[in-house]
Amino acid sequence: MAICGDSIAASDRAPGADHGILGANTVGVEGIGMQLDPASGWCHGVQVCPSPNFNERPAGEISLLVIHNISLPPAQFATGKVQEFFQNRLDVTEHPYFAGIADLRVSAHFLIERDGSVTQFVSCLERAWHAGVSMFEGRETCNDFSVGIELEGTDDLPFTDAQYQALITLTRQLQTAFPAITGARICGHSDIAPGRKTDPGPAFDWARYRAALAQEEGQ
Ligand SMILES: [Zn+2]
Repeated sequence: MAICGDSIAASDRAPGADHGILGANTVGVEGIGMQLDPASGWCHGVQVCPSPNFNERPAGEISLLVIHNISLPPAQFATGKVQEFFQNRLDVTEHPYFAGIADLRVSAHFLIERDGSVTQFVSCLERAWHAGVSMFEGRETCNDFSVGIELEGTDDLPFTDAQYQALITLTRQLQTAFPAITGARICGHSDIAPGRKTDPGPAFDWARYRAALAQEEGQ
């Protein structure tokens, strides 16, 4: 059984991880110091919680970023239950809500918790199961070519400054590693599964996020 661990020690266990770029700068405080290795698809300096819920990208393409929110139980934070959910070890007796979802086999590449801590579940080179039935610019099955980031939260509660900071840092890492993820190819789950999904929800400040990305691009 894989146990969620932190930072470098866990990254060392990650399949295919390239140990070569591990260094003193990978400290993982609110996303600062995270280093995405494009060769392995794993991000050093973040927590690693390997999920079995992934498969191969059919074309190897990585050209879309999908922003989600999740909390388990809903609107409860820092429970560790999202990590258990993505590892298929949610205890259905712990909360009535869990009974309805425990059999789902899902994952995302990343989770950003309320304190800005980042956890990776699936290599970006692999296909995580976050988007479901979806379409972006006429192309279906967005999991094939997208990276999924879950923000711990709900549709209606404001996300934290630490989450925006980590999200922006992680997004820049992704765009550097996978340049096909342009600003126009960052969207919400609700954008690619309208009528079925509502996340990241109206509380997510797209203007703040996009302005920060544009500012960093100009530096
Ligand atoms: Zn979602």
